[in-house]
Amino acid sequence: MKNQRSRRLNFGATVSLDFLRDGFMLPSFMSKVTPQLYDTMTKRVLPLIAQDGKSFRFYCCGPTVYGPAHIGNFRTFLVQDIFRRLVEAAQLHPVHVRNLTDVDDKTIKGSQKEGVPLKAFTERWTKKFHEDCALLNMLPPHVEPKATEHIPQMLTMIEQLVANNHAYVAKDGSVYFRVNSFDRYGCCSHIKIDLNRTQSTNSAGEQNDADEYDRESVTDFALWKSRKPEDGENFWKSPWGEGRPGWHIECSAMSTQYLGNSFDLHGGGVDLCFPHHDNEIAQSECAHGNTPEHPYCRHWFHVSHLMVDGAKMSKSLGNLYTLGDLMNKGFTPMEIRYALTSGHYRQQLNFTLEGLAAARSTLRNLKKSLKRLLELSGIETKEFIEPKQWEPLASYGSFEPAWNAIADDMNVSAMLGEVFKALHKIDAAALSKEQARAELSGLSLVLYVLGLFPVAQELESQVSVEVPTDIQILAQQRWDAKAAKNWPEADRLRKELTDKGWKILDSKDGFTVEPL
Ligand code: AMP
Ligand code: ZN
Repeated sequence: MKNQRSRRLNFGATVSLDFLRDGFMLPSFMSKVTPQLYDTMTKRVLPLIAQDGKSFRFYCCGPTVYGPAHIGNFRTFLVQDIFRRLVEAAQLHPVHVRNLTDVDDKTIKGSQKEGVPLKAFTERWTKKFHEDCALLNMLPPHVEPKATEHIPQMLTMIEQLVANNHAYVAKDGSVYFRVNSFDRYGCCSHIKIDLNRTQSTNSAGEQNDADEYDRESVTDFALWKSRKPEDGENFWKSPWGEGRPGWHIECSAMSTQYLGNSFDLHGGGVDLCFPHHDNEIAQSECAHGNTPEHPYCRHWFHVSHLMVDGAKMSKSLGNLYTLGDLMNKGFTPMEIRYALTSGHYRQQLNFTLEGLAAARSTLRNLKKSLKRLLELSGIETKEFIEPKQWEPLASYGSFEPAWNAIADDMNVSAMLGEVFKALHKIDAAALSKEQARAELSGLSLVLYVLGLFPVAQELESQVSVEVPTDIQILAQQRWDAKAAKNWPEADRLRKELTDKGWKILDSKDGFTVEPL
């Protein structure tokens, strides 16, 4: 990892701004905040602890790469991004793994529909996913394994489960996990199911499949699916014949590969808790002989769903948005990031276009405060956003309550409340240069952990634009016409400005001019 230098900081010491770029180095004074987070399994808020005392190892279920991710997916991934930044800020040295599901029914069907090989199809959607993540300023995970590149690890686990009787081979060569062989089944979701049911209703959340008649119980789930004609060329060899993995086994195999068979935290959207995470726990613990004292994973982190206009997102309701859809409506990635992360992660978030417009004006106010702090500190915007150009103080300034809020069960909405309370106070205060620098330092840490640092770049592009004199004169004439209630002349001048590529933003006491 680059830029990982150890430095001891005393209050008032300085630290290089490069931590804000790379995410590897945050000032050590922040480690006095120990973040706590709700754990789905124990239903308690627990401190985040790196079990090995060195690095905090966590796994997040990643996207299925068969189309553009929607903003619901991004709500979950953005919350996880803030979590990652918080773990960094707390000096817990995260190791972040997020997988790519590149083989399942949806990816296979999608590639067949387009007549392209599965690999080419999923690589295209992976690239799109990465582009969207970069626009949203998400830190890339340290490891991003693909399911199709871990088939041998999955087969090893399945063989282990067959050998110790936790799994069985069906007549067609599929392999099923024997759910009633694991006493603690359902310990994450706390959902109670009848593990011995043999009727054809499927409580394990999977589609009932007529070919799966030879499961011992309908709650048993597939570890390996025997090859079917509709799979085309998408199959692998196994001790039980050709086929492909079931979905759940990929996360067990890849988390074990990169984090070991007992790690610190596992995350996903709330829909994954049952059956996906319950199944992961069952198959991992039975394969590796974990115990409640030495579990597969010590902390379970689930993000509540995003709703749109009060309803579940769906194509048929016309309320399913991608990042591109919202950007085409003129919103910036930072406005979208803010709107998707400003609620508490354990509460459903209702997304509306009005809420997104409100995020725009909130960020505009934040930028105004930031601009003033830069001016009072005598720091150019350019210096602020260029690595190593500005040395922030090791200080929270007025933002310590904001830090305490986010450290308590990652309460981003409470944090934002504290941030705007602090900004309100700062905006009204006459600050010395040193005080302004301390506040700027605190604010830069907030921007880093919320992943909103690029708003400073937006500030740069706004402040650096030189408005030509003829445009300034036209804009002033238009303002005067408006003040004189000469509406036709004001409209004519606005149109002339638009035709020349400029827009006017009016406020109560004046106007600003921006390029279109
Ligand atoms: P998928 O690509 O369907 O495997 O989903 C990727 C991630 O997005 C998973 O963690 C899901 O739980 C999550 N997810 C799916 N829909 C939503 C939603 N409406 N709100 C929040 N998270 C979601
Ligand atoms: Zn998973």
